Amino acid sequence: MEAFYKVYKYKRCKKEVILITDEVVDTIRKSKYISCSHCGSKEIVKDTSVSDLRRCMEHSAYKRVKGAIRQVR
Ligand SMILES: [Zn+2]
Repeated sequence: MEAFYKVYKYKRCKKEVILITDEVVDTIRKSKYISCSHCGSKEIVKDTSVSDLRRCMEHSAYKRVKGAIRQVR
């Protein structure tokens, strides 16, 4: 199933930002970049794709999406 959302975790503030995949793709195509809503950092430590936003909130979601990803919280 196609992923509709991107979950970015930023290096500086350790916060997660959820974005719509189509919009991320469009932004990057226009030679722009994705930065953190909280601190403005561009350094991403984790990039996860999810098809169901509700799963973002579940701890098991990251495992299912990326296989070997480590749970940080
Ligand atoms: Zn940040």
